[in-house]
Amino acid sequence: MVNPSTISKDELSILLEQIHDPEIPVLTIQDLGMVRDVSWVNDHWKIVITPTYTACPAVDAILEDIGTLLNQQNIPHQLEVTLSPAWTTDWMTQQARQKLKAYGIAPPVEQSDHVCGIQLFQKEVTVHCPQCNSDQTSLLSSFGSTACKALYKCNHCLETFDYFKCH
Ligand SMILES: [Zn+2]
Repeated sequence: MVNPSTISKDELSILLEQIHDPEIPVLTIQDLGMVRDVSWVNDHWKIVITPTYTACPAVDAILEDIGTLLNQQNIPHQLEVTLSPAWTTDWMTQQARQKLKAYGIAPPVEQSDHVCGIQLFQKEVTVHCPQCNSDQTSLLSSFGSTACKALYKCNHCLETFDYFKCH
């Protein structure tokens, strides 16, 4: 049993930055804002995670990765998944948006609560090409390489790219 004083909440948060989203390996769960709460409860750390998309199969893999990492460090823990409030792309850090773009995925258009309401009715948003930054892009498919992304084509540089859908 690890004494709680041997690891601080900040150190634990830094440790969790080692956990990457299996679908977008450049992003960590911290980048995505998935770690909602870290607290010491009785004799273990309670970590509350909100998955980015409930349908994403990546959630189980992420929980397993966290469990493996903390077990390796002998850190007593309990993982809790909460779906409320639902994850929103607004929780992504600015750094995460830059990383996404550098990775060739268009980051979600901001003000998700507003835009997403519209998106439910299949209206398109203006997505900038991550390669050339052109706004002359068109939606090819609502589902890109995963359900979390949409496939776009840039009419300027003619590249196709994934758009990280806004939720
Ligand atoms: Zn382009």
